[in-house]
Amino acid sequence: MLTVNAYAATSATEPLAPTTIERRDLGPDDVLIDIRFSGICHSDIHTARSEWGPTPYPIVVGHEIAGVVREVGSAVTKFAVGDRVGVGCLVDSCRECDNCRKGLEQYCLKGSTGTYGGVGRDGEPTQGGYSQAIVVAEAFVLRIPDGIELDAAAPLLCAGITTYSPLRHWNAGPGRRVAVIGMGGLGHMAVKLAHAMGAEVTVLSQSLKKREDGLRLGADNYYATSDEETFRELAGSFDLIINTVSATLDMDAYLRLLAVDGTLVNVGAPEKPLSVHAFSLIPARRSFAGSNIGGIAETQEMLDFCAEHGLGAEIEVIPAEKINEAYERVLASDVRYRFVIDASTF
Ligand SMILES: [Zn+2]
Ligand SMILES: [Zn+2]
Repeated sequence: MLTVNAYAATSATEPLAPTTIERRDLGPDDVLIDIRFSGICHSDIHTARSEWGPTPYPIVVGHEIAGVVREVGSAVTKFAVGDRVGVGCLVDSCRECDNCRKGLEQYCLKGSTGTYGGVGRDGEPTQGGYSQAIVVAEAFVLRIPDGIELDAAAPLLCAGITTYSPLRHWNAGPGRRVAVIGMGGLGHMAVKLAHAMGAEVTVLSQSLKKREDGLRLGADNYYATSDEETFRELAGSFDLIINTVSATLDMDAYLRLLAVDGTLVNVGAPEKPLSVHAFSLIPARRSFAGSNIGGIAETQEMLDFCAEHGLGAEIEVIPAEKINEAYERVLASDVRYRFVIDASTF
């Protein structure tokens, strides 16, 4: 076993603190990755604070991992020492059920294994990316193309795929009008990706504070949702809306912005249930949907797409000692647009 430095949450209320954790011995199909950068996702905060149900403490969160292969198991075929690689939200699944066979490991019928907070193949709790190194089965390791810097690549492993997958599934592309609710970690990636896919992109943000950034990243239009005129003007005008906000919004108001056959997809996850009036759906055959990250093959497709289009996340790199401060800034929407921890500081 390998002992590595990490930052862990020890309770819902204590700040994250330095610690050490053990990584399992390398199995035949395992890859040992030296982590270089680890993104901070809002889910990390929800989990560290037990906001999505009880968390098994101590826990090392982090599922936006970018690094370099240090060692490979005897049966590994896809990766070699020195390869640039990433790990996202999943580190395993049953690999046999209908969904896994279709490349939808995130919807594994037996439950996929989360990068943190799950149970690994060694029977131990999985611990995530806020650490120096990680051991992952090669089937769940992604290749980071040379065209993307490792720090800007890290957030693609969650924020990137979480928005790429619904954009692809609901056919964002030329001639399609896509709106993105929220200009945060997920939202800014949705804007970049939808624009690169050729869609007409509109940002629906609380205020116009990030308007310049939105337009620079690829948005064609930018509206403030605090202005009621926005909802009158845009009624019935989108084919697809990606909701990246994890606060409870007035879903009926947003659903009315969809054209006939339009779909509103939730990728943000509020703690409380969302309410929807049937009459926001019926008059225009609208759909109200959800989407969870993407499968492994699709995550690789997203990374390759980003490299081809010169896309990465907009990031602020921080040392590990600033994690708790960064959490407060994420909650205050004071980050443009993703914190990435420099793993050499763990
Ligand atoms: Zn995430
Ligand atoms: Zn499965």
